[in-house]
Amino acid sequence: MATTAPAIDRDALKAKYAEERDKRLREDASEQYIRLESEFSDLAVDPYMPVKERAPVTDHVMFAFVGGGFSGLCAGARLKQAGFDSVRIIDKGGDFGGTWYWNRYPGAQCDTASMIYMPLLEETGHMPSEKYAHAPEIREHCSRIGHQFGLYEHALFHTQVTAMEWDEARSVWVIETNRGDCFTAKYVGMGTGPLHVAKLPGLPGIELFTGKSFHTSRWDYSYTGGTPEGAPMTGLADKRVAIIGTGATAVQCVPETAKTAKELLVFQRTPSSVDVRANEPIDPDWFGAVSKAGWQKAWQENFTAHFGMGMPEKDLVNDGWTDLAKRIRANMAKVPMSEWTPAKMMEAFEDADYEKMEEIRRRAEALVEDPDTAENLKAWYRQLCKRPCFHDEYLQAFNRPGVKLIHTDGQGVERITEKGVVAGGVEYEVDCIIYASGFEVWTDFADRTGFDPVGRGGRKLSDHWASEMRTLHGLQMHGFPNAFLVQATQGAAFIANYPHNLVDHADTIAALVSYMEDEGLDAAEPTAEAEQKWLDFLLTGNRNTLANTECTPGYYNNEGMGLRERDKYNLGHPGGALAFFRHIEQWRNSGEFEGLEFS
Ligand code: NDP
Repeated sequence: MATTAPAIDRDALKAKYAEERDKRLREDASEQYIRLESEFSDLAVDPYMPVKERAPVTDHVMFAFVGGGFSGLCAGARLKQAGFDSVRIIDKGGDFGGTWYWNRYPGAQCDTASMIYMPLLEETGHMPSEKYAHAPEIREHCSRIGHQFGLYEHALFHTQVTAMEWDEARSVWVIETNRGDCFTAKYVGMGTGPLHVAKLPGLPGIELFTGKSFHTSRWDYSYTGGTPEGAPMTGLADKRVAIIGTGATAVQCVPETAKTAKELLVFQRTPSSVDVRANEPIDPDWFGAVSKAGWQKAWQENFTAHFGMGMPEKDLVNDGWTDLAKRIRANMAKVPMSEWTPAKMMEAFEDADYEKMEEIRRRAEALVEDPDTAENLKAWYRQLCKRPCFHDEYLQAFNRPGVKLIHTDGQGVERITEKGVVAGGVEYEVDCIIYASGFEVWTDFADRTGFDPVGRGGRKLSDHWASEMRTLHGLQMHGFPNAFLVQATQGAAFIANYPHNLVDHADTIAALVSYMEDEGLDAAEPTAEAEQKWLDFLLTGNRNTLANTECTPGYYNNEGMGLRERDKYNLGHPGGALAFFRHIEQWRNSGEFEGLEFS
């Protein structure tokens, strides 16, 4: 592939991007979707593990954590390492894994390098088998963490928390679940993930289809045949299959489905940008040489540093993310010092993006044989408008004889009938519809998690956040003693390697709990002043890289609607992710825990 790009016609590209975005803007924005669980509860059933009968739990644990994905596993592991045994993780799935429990679709794989993405590699001694590990290995790693740190002992699976209330008199949280449990915990954590409620397009007629249908996060191998480990899906050999959606999930499952389906129709509203993956096995000798004490934190920080103020000398991860960061830096460095204005810098930044996207569009041309299909697979927006994708088989899958791209020119599927899918006024009859339609993002926390924590004085979290999200460090809330949120917003807000946010919050939780237990303290929460001061500080940088309304619609920018007034604090540390990690490390290690009040 050529690396020297032809001159960029910035104005023409801007106009094209705007034209493509405008085609896709819809008034119903996020309302165009429906929830898998509430609308089609039969499709939301766990296809992977049966629900085991068990008696309700009515005991007391020291720490209860909602969510058995990376957040809960990291927090649980750190608490166990700190010597606290009584840790309970509650999850709606049948095992640990969170997103990796549910997403077993064929080809599922991490899209950030395993060395930094898979948490606690050093603690578990696990060597990832590939630069970008596949889902079964990641799920197994979750289980490994669970076993190694004794987290299975108190865990409750196939269980959804329905209520969580602070009992002032006893200084405990009372937790209720859909399995009749009612137990107490001194501390609670919530790591429910940003993308855990599966959504379907709210298409007319969706309930009419008489064939097989499922969402990618509930892949039905009993129908398709095959396994998540890659055994061929022989059940599709005589089937006409539709995949609706072409986001990061579809990019991974289309090539696998294309291998065995008699016919595969991929319904596309907006193409993804699909760059080179270049996955490779990890060499044990190389890993042995690299994995010296403290290596994973150093690797994570090296990666994260690419997206902050400075630039590390070495690029340890060396992937599409750091490539983009380096290009931006290189372009900015070309601007003569006498011309250093914010506008010039922004132009240099944009040019790096235009160049990258032109390269990705040329890649489609080079790899896809049919020129019309290649043209329709080109993404016309800036790379970070949607989750950047990387794959070495996706574009090529459209060269297979049975695979067809149904390009809807931004309009999407119109409706579903008894027999199939209608797009562009044409009905396509199929045996099976697979919805690669993503997950809810912009709904309120309580609505998405299914419970609304009630803190001091009976105040609900939804009331505390009625105008906007309010936290200290994205981790604790005033009026909610001993409660921790494990997520990225209002902290590092680092999306390129999400687990870095989670493992760091786990460190903070373990440090604070250790301090409180050593000092014999009952409760801790941020003061109202500290919480406000943190929010004011976040606003000084206004570091919200997403939610850009110039972008094509998608979940990053609230389907093109951008930030609502209540989202004004959806920000990260003004100095960047690494600045946050430095700040919080100092905060937790100082032993002062500035901004918290204890009782
Ligand atoms: P997305 O929300 O990214 O994609 C949903 C897709 O459905 C889009 O292509 C959307 O089109 C399409 N769609 C919705 N309605 C219609 C319609 N009526 N007709 C046609 N198409 C329609 O969900 P994904 O599950 O792909 O990804 C969600 C996120 O999960 C990713 O962004 C990423 O963060 C994460 N992920 C990470 C992976 C990893 O490797 N670590 C792998 C997979 C996912 P449109 O774009 O026009 O809205």
